[in-house]
Amino acid sequence: MLTNDELAKWDRENFMHPSTHLSQFARGEAAQRIVTGGEGVFITDRDGNRLLDGFAGLYCVNVGYGRTEISEAIAKQAHELAYYHAYAGHGSEANITLSKMVMERAPEGMARVYFGLGGSDANETNVKLVWYYNNILGRPEKKKIISRWRGYHGSGLVTGSLTGLELFHKKFDLPLAQVIHTEAPYYFRRPEAGMSEDDFTAHCVEKLEELIAAEGAGTIAAFIGEPILGTGGIVPPPEGYWEAIQKVLRKHDILLIVDEVVTGFGRLGTMFGSDHYGLKPDLITCAKGLTSAYAPLSATIVGNRMWEVLMQGADEFGVLGHGWTYSAHPIGAAAGIANLKLIDELGLVRNAGEVGAYLNKAMADAVGGHAHVGEVRGEGMLCAVELVADRDKREFFPASEGKGAKIVGAMAKRGVIARAMPQGDILGFAPPLCLSKAEADQIVAATAGAIEEVLG
Ligand code: PLP
Repeated sequence: MLTNDELAKWDRENFMHPSTHLSQFARGEAAQRIVTGGEGVFITDRDGNRLLDGFAGLYCVNVGYGRTEISEAIAKQAHELAYYHAYAGHGSEANITLSKMVMERAPEGMARVYFGLGGSDANETNVKLVWYYNNILGRPEKKKIISRWRGYHGSGLVTGSLTGLELFHKKFDLPLAQVIHTEAPYYFRRPEAGMSEDDFTAHCVEKLEELIAAEGAGTIAAFIGEPILGTGGIVPPPEGYWEAIQKVLRKHDILLIVDEVVTGFGRLGTMFGSDHYGLKPDLITCAKGLTSAYAPLSATIVGNRMWEVLMQGADEFGVLGHGWTYSAHPIGAAAGIANLKLIDELGLVRNAGEVGAYLNKAMADAVGGHAHVGEVRGEGMLCAVELVADRDKREFFPASEGKGAKIVGAMAKRGVIARAMPQGDILGFAPPLCLSKAEADQIVAATAGAIEEVLG
């Protein structure tokens, strides 16, 4: 058995971690946690800590840890057929069955599902399909994609460009020219304090119209958005936002890509965020909740309007030149089937709505009145606490003070994991959908205690 020290040393000397301060980590200055197990909503580490995971990994372990139904399905699939590709019409019982299960759950108007590995590659697929679609239709100049500041859509070249967060652009020569950004639907950070929610929605629409006019509607192919901003701060849209935005997109013949990597399969208390907000997508991006992260798998769900054109394109141009070796991996598919069954059997979509509402209310009651809490917001099993230096003036702490990260550190000492969101002092919560009310209370108590400890 390896001792903690050996693993810790190997980790610092060999492992280049994603989204990590590389030099501080290598020097031993940045935190390290070696995770050994998980059960329900708890993880354990090699130092003997048992922590309530208030962020479900990276909002992905939706059914909770240690579900033998899924691990056994993975093992069975690995024994029977660990891999075969899905090119040129090849399939396996697992990926064909999962395609049917996904389509049965998809919002209305969707035609087919394409499987990849993670959210970033699924959005890469989406952009390629949008470009392909407009080329088939003979409009090669209609290619730009509009994303929102604070949107998160991955960290590849085009997907990192879609992501509207500075950290993911800085020094990477992003965003690429084909991607343009519009106003974030972030009411708390509205430009003028006196704006009502309706005013702010109208402002977002106006900004979008201005951008389309400046670029020319004939150059814009698609708009991408998460039903509720996730990594950008866990921000539900203002009243009437999606209805008004979709009207603009229809007027200018702009496709809608709904990124449901976080919201897909139950997180908002509905199967999809599109159901929740009345969205009519042309493409839906799924990953995380599709397998609850027990194996990597993503899905691009293609809407009828695009599917018809893609079929037409195949007759004209032949085989779709797009695929990964691991597209529709049977092991991921087996995990997906077991996961979706479990979500149904345990009633997790309903639980996400009920316990999520409880968590949001309990959080608002406990910390909403604190002098340094500007807003408690959320939807379904998503919740955020935004910290401010001055409530009345909506002034924020300097980023260099790292208040959010300090509070998250103080919460870990209280046995609860929250996420310090990357832009702003925002505490993020996205627990597994199986969270109980007693566990929600534990998250709230740790948050209140940690805020008190760090901010007084
Ligand atoms: N889209 C959204 C909304 C996400 O939250 C994420 C990841 O957090 C992604 C895409 C990228 O997914 P992945 O990290 O699996 O590439």
